[in-house]
Amino acid sequence: MSAITTIRPALVGKLNERQVLRVIQSRGSLSRAEVARESGLSAPTVSKAVASLLKAGLLEEADATELARGRPAPKLRLATTSAQVLGVSIDVGHCEVVSAGLDGSLHDDTLTIPTPATYPELLRALEVAAKTVMARSGITTLGLGVSLPGLVDYRKGCGVLSPNVPITNGRAPATDLAELLGVECTLLQESHALCLAERHYGLARGMDDFALLDVGAGVGLGIMSGGRLLKGRSGLAGEIGHFTAVSEGGRRCGCGNLGCLETVASDSALAWHASAKLGRAVDVDEVIELAKAGAVDLRAELREVAGYVAVGVAAVINLFNPATVFIHTPLFEIDPALFDLVVSKAAERSLPPSFAECTIVRAKGSKRQGAVAGIIQHLTDSVAPELV
Ligand SMILES: [Zn+2]
Repeated sequence: MSAITTIRPALVGKLNERQVLRVIQSRGSLSRAEVARESGLSAPTVSKAVASLLKAGLLEEADATELARGRPAPKLRLATTSAQVLGVSIDVGHCEVVSAGLDGSLHDDTLTIPTPATYPELLRALEVAAKTVMARSGITTLGLGVSLPGLVDYRKGCGVLSPNVPITNGRAPATDLAELLGVECTLLQESHALCLAERHYGLARGMDDFALLDVGAGVGLGIMSGGRLLKGRSGLAGEIGHFTAVSEGGRRCGCGNLGCLETVASDSALAWHASAKLGRAVDVDEVIELAKAGAVDLRAELREVAGYVAVGVAAVINLFNPATVFIHTPLFEIDPALFDLVVSKAAERSLPPSFAECTIVRAKGSKRQGAVAGIIQHLTDSVAPELV
């Protein structure tokens, strides 16, 4: 009994902080009185929760310049000038490091580095880039999120099997960067990062049930169900890229199998076609540039890849009955008409009642934005956990 009475005030305090954060996250800058009105909490309760959140660095008060403009009461907002977070996206050809406010607004300081050939080199390059970005702003960095392609085991906090960036297999880049940088770091599977980016800063705001198909070097899938990411037992759910799409004569996939969906429905598939056509090895970054510039005629190959992307979309629609499927891919930057082709092919391959209930949309968010969303969620959960 005594244990319960000791715990309860702390628990209530955390719930109140969560409520205050939620109101400010959805409404922007508010005074304490406005927070009280919006949240339904009493003024003293709001003051106490706000003091705790200011101390944790998640909130800040409007600066003196704004106060001088005659605002009646100090406004509270998510920290944007007093603190920042970092987002790191690890990808096949290159990695990106960016900083952002606690409201998720990206700063104009993205550093792009070629993905090195070994994990120690990758870690060193990310450490240098992160320290450069951290030093540039001169404000406190509260944490860093890492988006990683391939299978991520959330129980162990490490990459398990990345067919396209195998140097991260068995590695824990967020744990390693936390040690090197001295800030809180969290790891996200890249399709999950894209889901968070879309939900917090993209076109899925307010949506609790949607799917996101990520067609890049590989093919990934994120499922947001009831407002939560579907992770499976340890985070390995959603690997649609390794469904067999070509049963006879398929190409070897990075996972070791033959004919996986991502061998025919990805940037890598397009790069394979371009390499065959040009008689030299073309990587995923180069094929997008070549195709955009029209330097090589890949129209037939693009249609074939888009047809297989539609197979993936139809599978997602039939399996999960989502209200919306977002597609994230640079292929649509080559030719926006490919989107309509994917939608029409997906319509042919989906069950009509499921397709009728689903909208297919081009995703807006980026992996680095997802890494930022991931660390903000992690910090929010650490300070004020959501209790269900
Ligand atoms: Zn595979």
